[in-house]
Amino acid sequence: MVFDVLQPQQKKMSKYFEKIEYKMDVDFLAKLDEAREYAGIPFIINSAYRSPDHSLSIENPTSSHIKGLAVDIKAKDSTTRGLILDALRVVGFNRIGIAKTFIHVDLDMEKSQNVTWLYKQ
Ligand SMILES: [Zn+2]
Repeated sequence: MVFDVLQPQQKKMSKYFEKIEYKMDVDFLAKLDEAREYAGIPFIINSAYRSPDHSLSIENPTSSHIKGLAVDIKAKDSTTRGLILDALRVVGFNRIGIAKTFIHVDLDMEKSQNVTWLYKQ
């Protein structure tokens, strides 16, 4: 049994992200809350936990989304992107992917740390 993954019967653990808590890592959500607080703007979550049979999981079976350790935050303009990136860095996130319309952030300790990458689209 995994204890640090939120189960549906538990009470809500995060201040801002109640809607995406299902199967998400509790420490990850706490850090995301901190970043949201610091940024002072809404974080619109495009994608959080993904089941192993999700089409994107099949494309990328090692995705941190499957582990409940990642979200994609909507960011379509430079100001929003800047605020979110600053906040993620300040609270200590160090795995960040930047796309044209969103920012991926994860807390996957099994992958390279201190990396920022770009998506092709
Ligand atoms: Zn992602």
